[in-house]
Amino acid sequence: MKLARKLIFALVVGIFAVMACNAYLRLRSQMEFFEADTERDLRAAARALASGIEALWRDDGEERAQRFVEEVNLLREEIDLRWIWLDQRRPRELPPGLSPEDVKTLLRGDVVTFVRYEDDGQRRYMYWPLLIGGRPPAALELSESLVREESFIRASQITILLTALGVSLVCGLIATVIGVLFVGRPMRLLSEKARRVGAGDLSGPLILRQRDEIGELAEEINAMCERLAEAQRETARETEARIQAIEQLRHVDRLRTVGQLASGVAHELGTPLNVVSGHARMIRSGELSPAETAASADVIVEQTKRMTTIIRQLLDFSRRTGPKLDDADLGDIVASTLAMLGPLAEKRGVTLQVAEAPEAAPVRADRNQLQQAITNLVVNAIQATPQGGTVSLAITRRPAAQAAGQADVETNGEDLIELTVVDAGPGIAPEHLPHVFEPFFTTKDVGEGTGLGLAVAYGIVREHGGWIEVSSELGHGARFSIVLPPASPPRPAERKAVA
Ligand code: ADP
Repeated sequence: MKLARKLIFALVVGIFAVMACNAYLRLRSQMEFFEADTERDLRAAARALASGIEALWRDDGEERAQRFVEEVNLLREEIDLRWIWLDQRRPRELPPGLSPEDVKTLLRGDVVTFVRYEDDGQRRYMYWPLLIGGRPPAALELSESLVREESFIRASQITILLTALGVSLVCGLIATVIGVLFVGRPMRLLSEKARRVGAGDLSGPLILRQRDEIGELAEEINAMCERLAEAQRETARETEARIQAIEQLRHVDRLRTVGQLASGVAHELGTPLNVVSGHARMIRSGELSPAETAASADVIVEQTKRMTTIIRQLLDFSRRTGPKLDDADLGDIVASTLAMLGPLAEKRGVTLQVAEAPEAAPVRADRNQLQQAITNLVVNAIQATPQGGTVSLAITRRPAAQAAGQADVETNGEDLIELTVVDAGPGIAPEHLPHVFEPFFTTKDVGEGTGLGLAVAYGIVREHGGWIEVSSELGHGARFSIVLPPASPPRPAERKAVA
C-alpha cells in the first residue's frame, strides 16, 4: 500500500472511530435522559394520585377510591392507570412482568418500576403502593408507552450515523487531496528520481514547490546529484588526463624502442658493411693477388652471412607469426635442443646436463618456436660459462597459485611446467638485469651478440601463454626460467578424433 493511501486510510478510520464514539455517547445520554424523564413524570403523577386515592379510601371507602382510578384513567390519555390488589384475601391477578419478588417489595412500601417490550413497542410500568392504615393492601399501576421516545431515538441514531459518515467522507476527501498533493505525488517523483540516479542519470533536478520536509529532501537530493555530477566530471577529467599521460609515455617508449632498434641496426649492420665495402674496394683496385682476392671474397661472404643472420633475427622479432600450438612434451623439446647444441658446448668445453625431469611434461607448444627460445637461453648460458663449467637444465612443476601475478596465464588450477637453465658464468650486473629482455641490449663484443636472443625468447614464451623469469648475482651465474601453463587434458571428443 502506498504511503499516501496508508495515511488517508488511517485518518478516515481515526475520524470514523471518533465520530462513532461521539455518536454512541450522545445516544446513550439521550436514552438515559428520556428514561429518567419518563420515570420522573410517572413518579410525579403516581405520588399525586396516590395521596388523593389514599384520602378518598380513608374518607369515602374503597369503592370510591377504585372508581376514582377508573375515572382518571379515562381522562389521562398518555398514562394508563390500573388498580392492583396486593392483599392475600382479595382475588388478585398479578399483571405480566410483576413477579412475586416485586409484590414483596411493594408490600414493604417501596416503588417498583420496569420497562416491558410489548407488541406495539416498549412500555414503562410503575407500581406505587397505596398505604391504608400503615400497610399497602393495593397498588396503583401506571404505564406509559415509550414509542415516541423510541422513534425519536431512532431518528437521532440515523442523524448521528449519517453525520459521522458525512464527516468521515468529507475528511477522507480532504485527506485524499492533501495526501495526493503533498505526499503521494512528491514521493512518486522522489522515487522516480532515485531510480534515475541509480541508473546513472543525474540530470533534471526535482522541482517540488512545497516548503516542508519532503521539499527539503528533494532539495538535498538535487544538491547531492549536483555534487555527484561534479565528481563524475572531475573523475572524467582526471581519467582523460591520465590517458593522455599514458599515451605520451607510450609514445616516448615507442620512440625509445624505435631509437634503440635504429641504433642497434645501424651498429650491427654498420660494421660488417664497412668490412664488405673495404674488401670490395680492395678487390676493385686490382692490386690484390688472386689468393688475397679470394680471401677478401671469403670475408665478404662471411660478413654478408652475418648481416643475413641479423636481418633474419630482426624479422623474427618484428614479424613473427603466431605459434601453432600442439600437444608436446617439454622433455622431448629440451632433449632435441641439447642434442643440437652439444657440438657448440663441446667446442667451448662446457658440459650440458639435465639435472631433473619428470616422466612427462605435457605442454601446448609450437615445437620449432619453443626450441628457438630454449636455444637462445642455452646459447647465452654456454657463452657465459667458462671452460670446464656446467650448464644445468631442470624441468619441474610449479603450483598454479604462482601464476596469480601474471596476466593472461590460464592454469585451470593445474600445476605449471617450469624449465630452468642455470649456468656457472659471471652472472648479470644488477643494472643490466632490468634490460636483458630489451631488443638490441647486449654486453657482448661486436660479432658475438645482437641483443635480440632474449627479446625473441620472451616474445615466444608469452605467445605460449607463459613467461620468463631471470635471477642472478654477480659472480654466481645466472638462472633463467621458462614457465608454461600445463596442457589441458583433451576433451572426450578430441580424444576420439585423435584415436
Ligand atoms: P645477446 O646474447 O645477443 O647479447 P640476448 O638478448 O640473448 O642478446 O642477451 C642480452 C644480454 O643479456 C647479453 O648481452 C648479456 O649481457 C645478458 N645475458 C643473457 N644471458 C646471460 C647469461 N646466461 N649470463 C650472463 N649474462 C647474460
